[in-house]
Amino acid sequence: MKVSQFDHDFVEEVMAEPGGENLLTCWSCGTCAATCLVRRYEPAFNPRLVLRQAGLGMREQTLSSAEIWQCSACDACYPRCPKKIISRT
Ligand code: SF4
Ligand code: SF4
Repeated sequence: MKVSQFDHDFVEEVMAEPGGENLLTCWSCGTCAATCLVRRYEPAFNPRLVLRQAGLGMREQTLSSAEIWQCSACDACYPRCPKKIISRT
């Protein structure tokens, strides 16, 4: 995918949602993926990757991904994120 195809409006839309404000501060460290309970059983689900794609403005790849609906909202990743970007508001 070319950089010119990244959709900055999508980034703004995500950041305008409650809890999305800190999207661009993600370090992509992978702590959330290492913590994720769903990922242990479904390796295709990777919260770090979802956030990376969203932060780059990859609208279609993010929204068409079946994996984004697999988060159980268990909150296990929230307290471990060093940037506190995954949050409940
Ligand atoms: S733990 Fe936080 S900073 Fe690290 S990749 Fe996940 S969301 Fe980004
Ligand atoms: S809330 Fe739970 S299921 Fe969702 S990404 Fe975080 S650890 Fe995984």
